[in-house]
Amino acid sequence: MAYGRPMSPPLVRLNDFTSQWEVVSADVHAAVERVGRSGWLILGSEVKTFEAELAQASGLGHAVGVASGLDAIEIALRTLGLPPGAKVLTTPLTAFATTLAIVRAGLVPVYVDVDASGLVDLGQAEALLASRSDIAAFVPVHLYGHALDGERLSRIAAKVPVLEDAAQAILAKSRGVPVGSVGFATATSFYPTKNLGALGDGGAVLTRDAAVADGCRVLRDYGQRAKYVHDELGLNSRLDELHAGILRTALLPRLAAWTARRREIAGVYLEGLRGAKGVKLPPVPDGSESVWHLFPTVVQGDRAAAMKKLADLGIQSAVHYPRLAPHQPALAQIPYEAPALPVADELAAQELSLPIHPFLTDAEVARVIDAVKSL
Ligand SMILES: *Cc1c(COP(=O)(O)O)cnc(C)c1O
Repeated sequence: MAYGRPMSPPLVRLNDFTSQWEVVSADVHAAVERVGRSGWLILGSEVKTFEAELAQASGLGHAVGVASGLDAIEIALRTLGLPPGAKVLTTPLTAFATTLAIVRAGLVPVYVDVDASGLVDLGQAEALLASRSDIAAFVPVHLYGHALDGERLSRIAAKVPVLEDAAQAILAKSRGVPVGSVGFATATSFYPTKNLGALGDGGAVLTRDAAVADGCRVLRDYGQRAKYVHDELGLNSRLDELHAGILRTALLPRLAAWTARRREIAGVYLEGLRGAKGVKLPPVPDGSESVWHLFPTVVQGDRAAAMKKLADLGIQSAVHYPRLAPHQPALAQIPYEAPALPVADELAAQELSLPIHPFLTDAEVARVIDAVKSL
């Protein structure tokens, strides 16, 4: 025991798909068996039933299963029928998919800065919409699992159509009102790391508007409204029966408990890291009942060194997001508008996300707190 390299501490992971598998495997196998036996693999009763149950769980009237969160945003935007080149206001600090979907829908992203929470600054968005009339839509992101302030978002939705990107915020609420209640539609993702993560890719459009849901169903299936009648140039973006079956009976029924555990861990972090010198905790938006997809901190000092120190202590960490969407090489040759974005720049340079997932043990959470306090 005394020889050789010291034992490294067991890793505290950002995501733990093997622990999840232990919990869900029996139900996943049952879902696979059910779908296989049904003999129906695309757009059948699993998708239909999952959509109904997701619509119910999210508090919105309709859900349309698609192939990814990226597609959910593009498809929902396309139902607006905006002219090519129309301008869409959005946030620079998000997964690149938010911007990519806007561009793929033939629209031009216009950025405003975020506020100290890391979410799009709704005050700046309102001011911009008041000062110019060429903004055709707004795509805010409920980042980190926090809900943007629903009252302020409603004021904006009275001026332009709002598509809510809730890829990170399924089940989040603002003052008791579910995310997705303000916009004409809401996009979510079942990418495996998301709070409702499938065993592969998937996504959904959620909406209270039956006509929007109908438009999304046409677009996800080659734009066909009736068999072999293609009204529009759609996509192949169908959620598989297999994924829908697994989501419906193995994963969605556990989402509420998993969300409760994320909230519990966030509470322990917020308490345990108060007064820590090495990191600051960004504020949560007013009224947000967050679902804590991520647990962001702002490193005071050298972020790379902080990551290295945490790694040496066996704690995984990650950056969300190191490069702002308007600074991505893919945007170099295409039109977009970005003013100075000092707050987003600062977060891109200093944000560090700590592990937060439902399978963390209390001992692991305590280890993360001790490690961060040592920075
Ligand atoms: C994950 C994510 C997406 C894209 O979802 P995919 O299913 O990976 O395409 C879009 N927006 C945000 C904010 C995300 O976190």
